[in-house]
Amino acid sequence: MISIVAPGGYSSSSCGYCSPAGERSTEDTFRIYASCTALQLSCAVYQQMIDRNWRRSGTWCYRPDLKRSCCPLYTIKLDVSEFKPSKSQRKLVNRWNRFVMNGADEDVAMDPRCVVDLHQRIVERPTLYHSQPARAKGKKAAEFIWPAAIHASEQAFAEEPVHDFQVELEPSSYTQEKFDLYRRYQEDIHNDHKDNPSGFKRFLVSSPLRPEPIPYMHEPPAHLPKQYGSYHQLYRLDGKLIAMSIVDILPSCVSSVYFVYDKSWENYSMGKLSALREISLAREIREAGVTSMGYLYLGYYVHSCQKMRYKGEYSPSYLADPITYGWYPLDQCKKVLDKNRYACFSIPEACTNEPAPSEGRETILAIPHWP
Ligand SMILES: [Zn+2]
Repeated sequence: MISIVAPGGYSSSSCGYCSPAGERSTEDTFRIYASCTALQLSCAVYQQMIDRNWRRSGTWCYRPDLKRSCCPLYTIKLDVSEFKPSKSQRKLVNRWNRFVMNGADEDVAMDPRCVVDLHQRIVERPTLYHSQPARAKGKKAAEFIWPAAIHASEQAFAEEPVHDFQVELEPSSYTQEKFDLYRRYQEDIHNDHKDNPSGFKRFLVSSPLRPEPIPYMHEPPAHLPKQYGSYHQLYRLDGKLIAMSIVDILPSCVSSVYFVYDKSWENYSMGKLSALREISLAREIREAGVTSMGYLYLGYYVHSCQKMRYKGEYSPSYLADPITYGWYPLDQCKKVLDKNRYACFSIPEACTNEPAPSEGRETILAIPHWP
């Protein structure tokens, strides 16, 4: 598989992360990035790109220049094998499952026997997966088996749920139903009106990634993807599309691109539930014998932007060093980021608290785009 890109040179734009809420970003805040348009990419090449701080938006790929941006963007990844859901994350999953299974959002626990049985049916691989038996600390400890609990209320796994909840993963494609959800999400959550589907198609449907078979060691469960590539994960409740994740499935990771949801369900923290589901997806692929799979990438971690720090709530996470691209534990990085605007974890002397230099931006903009 040959990968083909058209280099786009360097560009700068104002920064949306540090502008006060509700205000337009000013010229004093800026990001500088290298870019290219990818005509086609193998999944292995794109894996290497995101490990060097690149991201894609549709077929447009970019890499921020951390030292020369007011808000440096660090690639963050979560180790899905070591991840253990926190108490609040377990509560979110249980609450959603209770709603689907029982109807009302009442405090009725799932029958722990169902989750144990589910775990054995879909996740447990005796030769590869050694689960800890539920600790005998009483009912609470037995109730939540990760990651089986993420599927516990889905129609394909649940027994007699009150609501019909289905999650399906399909190669990214355009449908009116998806665009309608996206348009409502932009209006209700971001107060932005999107009547034309062209932007949605350009950034969330089109992809340069070429599908390739995932080398499972044995036949995977039916809900897992057969190929690497770009996907839409659709959440349907009683037949209605209520949320959609846009994800790339790559040799070493599931990479989260975007997430949209119906505002009616925001009390269930759909964004956090989707991240947990993506962690589970990567882990289940790994447990089906794909030993290279190991991480969830949540895009960029922006320490200077409070509302982006939620990406650090999943542990253990690592940030890519801006110079060597080695991975450093997030907790260690946060201490350096608290003290420096620009943090380099591999070379402490390279850290600086000086504002990003503004000179040179015009020169950068003058570099002609190619072709
Ligand atoms: Zn900024």
